[in-house]
Amino acid sequence: MSLTGKTAVVTGSTSGIGLAIARAFAKEGANVVLNGFGKPEEIEAARTGIETEFDVKAAYSPADLTKPDAIGGLIALATDTFGSVDILVNNAGVQFVSPIEEFPLEKWDQIIALNLSSAFHTMRAAIPHMKAKGWGRIINTASAHSLVASPFKSAYVAAKHGIAGLTKSAALELATFGITVNCISPGYVWTPLVESQIPDTMKARGLTKEQVIEDVLLKAQPTKEFVTVDQVAALAVFLCGDGASQITGANLAMDGGWTAQ
Ligand code: NAD
Repeated sequence: MSLTGKTAVVTGSTSGIGLAIARAFAKEGANVVLNGFGKPEEIEAARTGIETEFDVKAAYSPADLTKPDAIGGLIALATDTFGSVDILVNNAGVQFVSPIEEFPLEKWDQIIALNLSSAFHTMRAAIPHMKAKGWGRIINTASAHSLVASPFKSAYVAAKHGIAGLTKSAALELATFGITVNCISPGYVWTPLVESQIPDTMKARGLTKEQVIEDVLLKAQPTKEFVTVDQVAALAVFLCGDGASQITGANLAMDGGWTAQ
């Protein structure tokens, strides 16, 4: 499939799933806008690596997506630099693990702002550009936690269930405009996000690192394997193709069977 001539904005693409999706789009010929935090030299290496490896253009926005004003700037960077936003992947997300009664208020606000509200703000800014072209793809990285819950992840589960609902609503609104809106809902993917929650899960549940990996994380996945970032990226690429033009409003699980239980 060719995405040559398309522009893809992928939020939270300096790491993990988002970076793999941005690279997969670039491999298909799309220009990409990277976003997220990290060491400047590593981000620049990822950006220039995409340009040289795939012969496309890659821009980078440091926008903090918990700030609605910054989100306008992210979409404007894409349209000013490349003339359009054809593909939008709302992927940026963070996790925090704690019992509800001890959950820090600022962590609740941050997770709802980033994992849920930022997708509303990016879509609000990008949809007019997609409507003008009569084509668009919006992909939200939700989670198995958009379908089922786990204890101690109240904000994350609330935000991910929320983005699944936002996806359906947007899909219905945009169904006649050539724009599809879907969620990809991975189970556990081995990325910095998963690795970094292990210490808090050890504390919250009184377990060792090995016990968290075997008895909490992989326990949820009948295949007993982590999903890979490249598998998630391959599904995102598929959703941008003609073969997926009738898939909209879907919440596509890629979770080793987790939510089948
Ligand atoms: P990651 O930590 O590797 O990447 C998160 C990205 O978000 C990074 O680029 C980071 O810089 C960026 N980010 C964080 N705060 C931001 C902010 N305020 N503004 C802009 N960018 C910000 O994590 P990941 O595992 O690749 O997660 C990506 C998405 O996939 C998240 O939405 C996550 O909830 C979802 N997800 C992950 C898994 C998993 O097991 N890793 C499973 C299901 C869903």
